[in-house]
Amino acid sequence: TPLLDIAGLTKRYPTGDLALTDVSLRVPPGQVMALIGPSGAGKSTLIRCVNRLVEPSSGTVVLAGEALTTLSRGALRRARRRMGMIFQEYALVERLTVMENVLSGRLGYTGFWASWFRRFPRRDVEEAFRLLDRVGLAHMADKRADALSGGQRQRVGIVRALMQDPALLLVDEPTASLDPKTSRQIMRLIVELCEERGLAAIINIHDVALAQEFARRIVGLRAGRIVFDGGPDTLDAAA
Ligand code: ADP
Ligand code: ADP
Repeated sequence: TPLLDIAGLTKRYPTGDLALTDVSLRVPPGQVMALIGPSGAGKSTLIRCVNRLVEPSSGTVVLAGEALTTLSRGALRRARRRMGMIFQEYALVERLTVMENVLSGRLGYTGFWASWFRRFPRRDVEEAFRLLDRVGLAHMADKRADALSGGQRQRVGIVRALMQDPALLLVDEPTASLDPKTSRQIMRLIVELCEERGLAAIINIHDVALAQEFARRIVGLRAGRIVFDGGPDTLDAAA
């Protein structure tokens, strides 16, 4: 059974923009999938319908057997803890340290500031150090987020999402603010970490070459519809 089962998803914004039309997509556990397509294709809307930052107009999203599209607010908050988000602009709290930003992942989605007030169990801090070490940032744990480079900030964003211990990572244009060399490093890191941890991911990325280099499955969106779904080697023939 799939980890994520999206069926008949349609989104029309109040402005009248039809961003998604009848999109169906299944993601098995542990699969790292790249979602490509030109800007305006609906990639960001699709990812946001999964965690309901955007409310779908119709269709269903089921995560590990639970229908997310009909959950109440309280139940949705719990369900969101199983979906780690990685953002284009990192969304770190600049005045907090790397460690504080990372620990906020433990609180889920709304906890960005709350980590400053709270004492965390030692095992959380140890896990945070282990993960920071894995991404080469253990020595930066006490630095403020605003002292880091773009690539370092995105690595902190990745570790924060992993601290949530999610079943699924939702990754929205993770390299959009980075130079080409750093973009490749970040894509490689996200895919490697997912594979090490058996974690499924949907990675929005409009850089087709990066998708082809790192993802096993590529789904192409165009004007709100899926126009391609296959392995990286079959994409060239389809384009
Ligand atoms: P943007 O406006 O976001 O920069 P582009 O229109 O320049 O996006 O498209 C980026 C690249 O992705 C182009 O090479 C384009 O051919 C390719 N592309 C876009 N959509 C698809 C798709 N659905 N399937 C395959 N390739 C696509
Ligand atoms: P992508 O992530 O592939 O660039 P988006 O999901 O951001 O695509 O956008 C898909 C379509 O939905 C576009 O036509 C865009 O203008 C429209 N759209 C996105 N967000 C909004 C919004 N908040 N209100 C109205 N229209 C929106």
